[in-house]
Amino acid sequence: MSPAAQLAVLITQRFVKNAPPDLATLCEVLGLRVREVPARGFDGALVRSRTAQKGIIAIKASLREKARKRFTIAHEIGHFVLPHHRLLKTVCDERKIDSFDVRLNRPEVEANEFASELVLPSAILARTFNLSIFSLSQISAVASSFETSLTATIRCFLRLTALPCAMIWSAENQTPWCARSDSFRFFLPLEELPAEGSHAAGLFAGTPAPPDFAPVPASAWLDEAAAERVGTLLEHSIYLPNYRAVLTLLWAQTVE
Ligand SMILES: [Zn+2]
Repeated sequence: MSPAAQLAVLITQRFVKNAPPDLATLCEVLGLRVREVPARGFDGALVRSRTAQKGIIAIKASLREKARKRFTIAHEIGHFVLPHHRLLKTVCDERKIDSFDVRLNRPEVEANEFASELVLPSAILARTFNLSIFSLSQISAVASSFETSLTATIRCFLRLTALPCAMIWSAENQTPWCARSDSFRFFLPLEELPAEGSHAAGLFAGTPAPPDFAPVPASAWLDEAAAERVGTLLEHSIYLPNYRAVLTLLWAQTVE
């Protein structure tokens, strides 16, 4: 677990009594007020008091999804409590929040690591998930009861499971980013994804994808050497029109 996530564990143990965590009460305890503002250019921002250990979290009022709002608040709490973030200007646009794009700078990655653990406490989720089944319907049900996004909830599952599986987020005209379980030890050539032959590429081309996991040529996602090591690669991809993105789950069934 990263140091940022460990700090979220400590704060959860000290201040959070219920699941899903009550972020409004936590903000109060920490000296933070949350204000919804008609923002343009950012989803969340943190304004610190110069004289006291308190601050205001500004959230874009037009954010539609509750999960997105909660993660954004948790991300800004992260900037407030994480060491070394005090002197940073923390104005965070949508690309920085709930993303694990490797191009993000370190403080944004840390704020996301913190937020992920705060909204989805590992100790509770390890008992909530059936960790031997990678299934979008299971993850959607947990996401809805914890009021978290699909991507945050999938990442939580991937941190906890022993299955060799991964998630890839592909948005139009952007290099995809991915998250994977510890046992998914295959190189994903992100710059070239989603490749022809994958269900994700089909969705971008307007072809419907199978409604659940279905076999896909491993070479559609993995480089040649990795593709040879995988027996069967299963893919479940869905198109998310609000983001003009495809969310892909990969599950390697037989690993030699
Ligand atoms: Zn941020």
